[in-house]
Amino acid sequence: MRMKWKQQINGLKAYQPGRSIEEVKKAYGLEKVVKLASNENPFGSSNQAKEWVRSYDASFAIYPDGYTTELRLALSETIGVKEKQLIFGNGSDELILMISRALLEPGKNTVMAAPTFPQYRHNARVEGAEIREIPLIDGAHDLDGMLRQIDENTAVVWLCSPNNPTGIYISNDELTAFLDKVPEDVLVVLDEAYYEYVTADDYYDSVKIVEQYKNVLALRTFSKIYGLASFRVGYGFGSEELIRMLDPVREPFNVNTLGSGAALAALADQEFIDTCREENEKGREQFYQFCKEENLNYYPSQGNFVLIYFPCDSDEVFEYLMKNGYIIRSGNALGCPGAVRVTVGSKEQNEGVIQAMKQFLVEKAIRQ
Ligand SMILES: *Cc1c(COP(=O)(O)O)cnc(C)c1O
Repeated sequence: MRMKWKQQINGLKAYQPGRSIEEVKKAYGLEKVVKLASNENPFGSSNQAKEWVRSYDASFAIYPDGYTTELRLALSETIGVKEKQLIFGNGSDELILMISRALLEPGKNTVMAAPTFPQYRHNARVEGAEIREIPLIDGAHDLDGMLRQIDENTAVVWLCSPNNPTGIYISNDELTAFLDKVPEDVLVVLDEAYYEYVTADDYYDSVKIVEQYKNVLALRTFSKIYGLASFRVGYGFGSEELIRMLDPVREPFNVNTLGSGAALAALADQEFIDTCREENEKGREQFYQFCKEENLNYYPSQGNFVLIYFPCDSDEVFEYLMKNGYIIRSGNALGCPGAVRVTVGSKEQNEGVIQAMKQFLVEKAIRQ
């Protein structure tokens, strides 16, 4: 039946998640499968969060607190912003949707890197805005190129730092030089989904950035290092005025009671976060070492994933690893042909997937 769908959603595909552990076990008859495909925390989440969820004993019949008060107060204190500077989402995915819904429409345009996190593009398309994608240079945002694409109809610029899928971050100097030139009436979204993994000294302090630039909104999430992806809790912070404008498009009870409670408990356990950051940094080194030994190109990453280039089609590596019990992401699905993106796992998981990659290279050499 012909209904009056928005023209721009014609042919738009729903998000395709990576294959699940259970699916792959069944398809390949494997007993053990390791998923290093979605940048999930290999160490799970804080025990304090698990214990809080297990002991939760209030009524399921009552709607959540629409202001997410407790988590809001705790975060405001932890990161050093006012409570009115915060907004919560059902994952930062939902914040991307809210931003798009509030600012994008036909006749407006939005500027982003390519490849980057696909939800910016997806939501812009739903809203019918013109999408201006600026290719990365050596895995990094081409900030000058992005500046050149901004005009009087630009409503939103998306920056992803560290960038998914390359892992390259924007330094403080690069960011401030860029923001100095962006018109004040253009929203700049600073997606910091991997913020807690960053170890580089010249990374910016986004709390100071939003203080100085009232048109910047930073996004963070409890899905990655906090290991709470299943609960869907993300947050944004920016100037009070910006948050006041954005808040009306938010659904009334978008963050649920168990999610906000688990996030609050997880936030209190910074020791767990520090441990994960340290383990992740060692894990990244395991992959770099492997790449150097095998002469494979890669991007130095500030996230919990590494993009590695192989001398063949990405899907070949992807399929081989899957048959051997490792789910990773093919670069073909990420706009990086020739590469694969692998999430940094535990030391043993990294050793395992590296071993399988080595085996792949050996077998490939024999076949040629
Ligand atoms: C994973 C990810 C998100 C989405 O996180 P959720 O909070 O789970 O919705 C947003 N941005 C980037 C760059 C990501 O990699």
